[in-house]
Amino acid sequence: MKADEIKDPFPNKSGYLDEHAYSGMKIYGNGRPIRLFVAGLHGDEWKDTTEILESIEPPKTGTLALIPLVNNGKYVSTLEADYYPEAGKQILKAIEELKPEIYIELHSYSRENIEKLAGKDRLDRIGVPAYSVLKEGVLLGSVSPLIRKKYFPKEALCLSFEIQKGNIESRKFTALMLDILKETLSRDEFIEYLKKEFPAQAEKAIDDYRRFYGET
Ligand SMILES: [Zn+2]
Repeated sequence: MKADEIKDPFPNKSGYLDEHAYSGMKIYGNGRPIRLFVAGLHGDEWKDTTEILESIEPPKTGTLALIPLVNNGKYVSTLEADYYPEAGKQILKAIEELKPEIYIELHSYSRENIEKLAGKDRLDRIGVPAYSVLKEGVLLGSVSPLIRKKYFPKEALCLSFEIQKGNIESRKFTALMLDILKETLSRDEFIEYLKKEFPAQAEKAIDDYRRFYGET
């Protein structure tokens, strides 16, 4: 499916998409653990990510909070100091209110940029670890260091998925990962799953995490 063929996720709110507004937060279930999944963080990324969160089913235990469209205005990177306080302020508000144990961002990328995201020199280039390639063009990485330490305890699971734009298999695979994550009880439980299914990527995720917090 081409990106232009993806339907407007809010067909009944005409003009809505021009206001760069916020689609609201949906909350399923109750109690701990609390998981917060967000998509459509900037620019046109909502086209490949928003619908995935809109079609997710409620979790069997704990809470699942969803913000399917954070902002569709001008593209500002989550590595920029003003992203979260401005374009992404609904995310900060949700994190402060909910104090989630599991926090997931869905992003999308163009195929030609894969080297920029998953190339081994990313750490030297921009000071952020490279993404790991999971499957079907889906990349797994950490969230922006600008929010990781300041807003989450060390034990929280914070991940970012990059979906390949216009790739339906990429979306389907991400939906499968989210089905697992919405039932996950803790960071360690998901890391165990990752170690079994994607050992190399799990090792890298653990390394990145240790590097960020320093060896203890
Ligand atoms: Zn993004």
